[in-house]
Amino acid sequence: AKREGKNRVLFYKDDLREENTKLANMINYIQEGIEQEQFYLEYQPQYRLSNKELTGMEALLRWQHPKEGYISPAEFIPIAERTGQIYRLERLVLKKALEQKMLWEKQGFTDIELAINLSTKTLTSNINFSEWEQILDSYSVDYSKIVIEITETADILNVDSVITRLSNLKKKGIKIALDDFGTGYASLNYLTKFPIDIIKLDKSFINAITKEGVDTLLIKNVLRLAYELKFNVIAEGIETKEQMQYLINYHCDLGQGYLLSKPLSEYKLLRLLENENT
Ligand code: C2E
Ligand code: CA
Ligand code: CA
Ligand code: CA
Repeated sequence: AKREGKNRVLFYKDDLREENTKLANMINYIQEGIEQEQFYLEYQPQYRLSNKELTGMEALLRWQHPKEGYISPAEFIPIAERTGQIYRLERLVLKKALEQKMLWEKQGFTDIELAINLSTKTLTSNINFSEWEQILDSYSVDYSKIVIEITETADILNVDSVITRLSNLKKKGIKIALDDFGTGYASLNYLTKFPIDIIKLDKSFINAITKEGVDTLLIKNVLRLAYELKFNVIAEGIETKEQMQYLINYHCDLGQGYLLSKPLSEYKLLRLLENENT
């Protein structure tokens, strides 16, 4: 369930006029948030399930508003996509994440992958994508340890240009993950159309793995398919030991979720890396 409480005032959908007012307010809110540096990143560790080896981190955008408190990206990203502010936010995310990556490398954690979310909005926008790419090029990091997570959407009109853009990322060594796999309608279509390396199983899939083992036929077959087609698979939202064991049994190598670790602040992340090293 979504968070109740303070944010309700901002996000509750009433009539259209009220909605437009709220959207206008949100534009200012987000703008202010950027200027006042209310946005920051947390990182959720990703592990090899069989031996709990730390393999990567997903950068997740956070917004701590001075009055409203914590606002989830699940709430503000769709709005930022509508207002066009997503472009600026994603440039901010990329910069911050790459700075972290450089820090990890400097400290000797050269094998840790960094996963960054990229919205279809940015991916399909000419100017904004090239600005995003320029930032990517301006950091000297090991690109082979960078993963870009994209999600399925219906609104990719220019398929060829997206293929070219993703292929150019891959030429640098970057890997492409198809995020939230299983929630869209075009999953298989995406896998064949775009140069995808990694399938990221959505949490709703993982939720279906219960103690009783019901409702797992679908996920079993998805994992088998991914294995046979030689995609790498990572599961998100692992919360129970049963889910983890099930995933291991069906060749899902990697995973993230509260069972393993919640998203961490930069500070906590550094402590984790230090402990990994000893
Ligand atoms: P996502 O990419 O599917 O990210 C995974 C979400 O699941 C994150 O929520 C994470 O905190 C949460 N999560 C991880 N493990 C567990 C678990 O075991 N149990 C539960 N209940 N939740 C878990 P978060 O951070 O609220 O992000 C929500 C969505 O916002 C993300 O979903 C992603 O689509 C979007 N998002 C976050 N950061 C960015 C960003 O920098 N750019 C873009 N475009 N989207 C972002
Ligand atoms: Ca993601
Ligand atoms: Ca995901
Ligand atoms: Ca998801």
